[in-house]
Amino acid sequence: MLRTQVGIVGAGPAGLVLSQLLAREGIESIVLEARDRAYVEGRVRAGVLEHGTADLLEAIGAGQRMRAQGLVHRGIELRFGGQSHRIDFAELVGKSITVYGQQEVIKDLIAVRLQQGGAIHFDTEAYAVDGLDTARPVVRYRKADGSGGELACDFVAGCDGFHGTCRNAVPPNQLAFFERTFPFSWFGILAETPPASQELIYTNHERGFALISMRSPSVSRLYLQCAVDEDPGAWPDQRYWEELAARLAGYDAPEVKPGRVLARGVTGMRAFVVAPMRYERLFLAGDAAHIVPPTGAKGMNLAVADVLVLSRALVAFYTSRRLDLLDAYSDTCLRRVWKAQRFSSWMTSMLHRFDAHTPFERRLQLAELDYVTSSRAASQALAENYVGLPLD
Ligand SMILES: Cc1cc2nc3c(=O)[nH]c(=O)nc-3n(C[C@H](O)[C@H](O)[C@H](O)COP(=O)(O)OP(=O)(O)OC[C@H]3O[C@@H](n4cnc5c(N)ncnc54)[C@H](O)[C@@H]3O)c2cc1C
Repeated sequence: MLRTQVGIVGAGPAGLVLSQLLAREGIESIVLEARDRAYVEGRVRAGVLEHGTADLLEAIGAGQRMRAQGLVHRGIELRFGGQSHRIDFAELVGKSITVYGQQEVIKDLIAVRLQQGGAIHFDTEAYAVDGLDTARPVVRYRKADGSGGELACDFVAGCDGFHGTCRNAVPPNQLAFFERTFPFSWFGILAETPPASQELIYTNHERGFALISMRSPSVSRLYLQCAVDEDPGAWPDQRYWEELAARLAGYDAPEVKPGRVLARGVTGMRAFVVAPMRYERLFLAGDAAHIVPPTGAKGMNLAVADVLVLSRALVAFYTSRRLDLLDAYSDTCLRRVWKAQRFSSWMTSMLHRFDAHTPFERRLQLAELDYVTSSRAASQALAENYVGLPLD
């Protein structure tokens, strides 16, 4: 049987950042990850790091490549009525964001953990968590080669994403679930083409939402609003490029040059929160506890914020047997989570086409965009949330 202080299930941003934060305080952990290393290092997902997330990665020794290769953005553009309007983060709130792919963050975190002797067990799927109401919970796992084992620990961190196992270890009557599903999805592609703009462009158009984003000076990440049941197979590349151009059309339209498509996929637009984020000796963090629609670029950032709170609570426990921060963990995280949900839902509602909208509601949506881009107070509120509310 393996034994450690904190058993961490999942080597996504939440699990890896937690393991690194704990190691820096002399607290042992073992990370169990269901997939192999190449898979988790290649999984293309989020790409916007809030100001505080970028600083934290640097502070834990995983920020060198991000600082060298990440793209610092001092604003974003909102495009509607065929025109772009800039929200200048630097001027409005004195902060910026860093565009750096989640898969690169993962590579950096794995490298630093392994360099420092950290234990990450790949190809190791947790299938049960027992004894949560005892002082020694146990995570049961099976490896890809068919063998199995147990990890005994003082605490379990459920960092295993939305489809993980840990949340299911909690008796259902101990949890409340909050959920909202939007009636559309995002069809995203990663393409070998230089970004058409220096900053992200969020577009509201009669044909549907479009987002121009990027991962590097030569790779773009592009999204189109699509139907929930959209079949990506029905979209030859040419159709995608034409639809994108149609949604960006107008004054000073950004010109996206078609390039080789490296990855494509449809992502649902869902908001989900479970409360509390703790059951006895199990602490849920990141997507295991909440999902936000990607319009606010908050998913990975929330995962990192959760484990920062958790690491502080665990440090207080191991250094002075204090339980108060562990007891406050769920409430502390949920305050931030609900503000991120509010912001993400607001951005999603403001920027997408809703088939059910009446002409009156459509005009309200355009008035909202007009207000946000013409009022300093409203622009500032958007900027403050987008770069990330303070981590404390
Ligand atoms: C397709 C997609 C696109 C996204 N795009 C964006 C975006 O553009 N912007 C944005 O902000 N956010 C985006 N997100 C959300 C963002 O990527 C997540 O919020 C973030 O990955 C959360 O990190 P996490 O560590 O909590 O979970 P994850 O990154 O999901 O990590 C969980 C880990 O646990 C492992 N695991 C699962 N079950 C087990 C088990 N039983 N045993 C062991 N290991 C297990 C998984 O393999 C995984 O490595 C996207 C998510 C998806 C799925």
